[in-house]
Amino acid sequence: MFDYDLFVIGAGSGGVRAARISAQLGAKVAIAEEFRFGGTCVIRGCVPKKLLVYASKFSTAFADAKGFGWTVGESAFDWRALIAAKDAEIDRLEGIYRTNLERAGVAIHAQRARLTDSHTVELADGTRFTAKHILIATGGRPFLPDIPGVEHGITSNEIFDLKQLPERVLLVGGGYIACEFAGILNGLGAKVTLLNRRPAILRGFDEEIATHVLDALKARGIDFIGNTEVARIEGGTPEHTVHLSDGQTLQAGLVVFATGRVPNTGGLGLDAAGVRLAAGGAIAVDAYSQTGVPSVYAVGDVTDRLQLTPVAIREGQAFAETVFGGRPTRADHATVATAVFTQPEIGTVGLTEAEAAAQGEVEVYTAAFRPMDHILAGRNERMLMKLLVAREARTVLGCHIAGPNAGEMIQSVGIAVKMGATKEDFDATVAVHPTAAEELVTMKTPTRIVGCSAVQAAAGG
Ligand code: FAD
Repeated sequence: MFDYDLFVIGAGSGGVRAARISAQLGAKVAIAEEFRFGGTCVIRGCVPKKLLVYASKFSTAFADAKGFGWTVGESAFDWRALIAAKDAEIDRLEGIYRTNLERAGVAIHAQRARLTDSHTVELADGTRFTAKHILIATGGRPFLPDIPGVEHGITSNEIFDLKQLPERVLLVGGGYIACEFAGILNGLGAKVTLLNRRPAILRGFDEEIATHVLDALKARGIDFIGNTEVARIEGGTPEHTVHLSDGQTLQAGLVVFATGRVPNTGGLGLDAAGVRLAAGGAIAVDAYSQTGVPSVYAVGDVTDRLQLTPVAIREGQAFAETVFGGRPTRADHATVATAVFTQPEIGTVGLTEAEAAAQGEVEVYTAAFRPMDHILAGRNERMLMKLLVAREARTVLGCHIAGPNAGEMIQSVGIAVKMGATKEDFDATVAVHPTAAEELVTMKTPTRIVGCSAVQAAAGG
């Protein structure tokens, strides 16, 4: 007899969903959390970040208001007030997560946990529990480069609790977290430098969209240094001196490393349980999130499939349905729409232009224009929309949007793309006017054709 049917380690997006649904399906469930309930997304990820994005947009809104006849008085921003408001909201959400677990009958252990064998979990206070199934949902953590003085920098974990916003900030990295924070801190009034070891930003996203956003970030006053790394940091007050690989030095009151995230597997007792890691350090699982050890499953960022909250939730749900619902269910990782809350924002689903072109001949439709509200505001920033269409099959393989509300738009486009809609299905849809989104159904002529036909591909052309 086991103490529990399921013991979940980690109460983030994936773990909470799996625990709650499993309990609702009749399982006796326990969960252990070493930090705060809700995990990265709620406590120091998506949610607080989006709140900060909202806050940062007021500076452009105040500036734009003049063009619409408004006179806005002198404005001032109070970082502490924002952080206090954000903290109150995060406390509220954490409470909801806890209550929902309790209501579902899940036993809560607010402690670190590790495995001692394939059916046993040990808490930090030494208590041990046995479980028929163990689910590892411990997420990821920021990766820090091994450079002298790295301790003078912080990561996205600490940024949400800063006591004040320094005048000059260096953001290291070119991924979505670095780029989002560049926009946030710039909007809140800091002088931001974004530094990346690559010449561009947002690797993995459509290149044209990434270039468009980088140009917009620069136009909004963010300095970008590409092809460069931090060599060492000399700590100082009020500013640190940052030595770069190209010999330059920079002064910054805050250095933020957004240099990737790695799966949280340290000290989990995986060896004791016989759980294997994949090459990149993530827990290796099959399509049902089962590890090589039949009683041990893993979901979310610790498995490094797609590091997104809704994906972790889907994996947690699929786990519960498979193990306790009698319905073997795979989480579907194909054609997942996602947003990047840079300023301008990105919404994206499906293949990038390069990926689509590698599969065959593709019609690329693009529309670049000034959104309507930018015109009276006197804002020159343009919106960019792209549709990638398989030339023969006519299917829309990808859609990429950079501009206001792109994240909101892509959710609906994602349904059409996931369903396999063709360009002609898009064209048959009557436009919603006047919106920016209407461009998605009114792009008539391809801007270019890329990729090679099946015949050329077969001939190696
Ligand atoms: P997590 O949510 O990280 O939860 C893991 C939990 O396990 C944590 O609470 C941790 O404390 C706990 N834990 C770890 N080890 C132990 C242990 N041994 N014992 C007990 N508890 C343990 N995704 C989006 O979809 N959209 C976004 O806009 C977005 N923005 C983001 C912004 C930032 C700054 C960051 C860092 C991430 C963002 N993400 C976003 C990614 C998203 O937060 C993650 O994909 C998601 O939280 C993963 O869920 P998870 O359940 O795998 O892990």
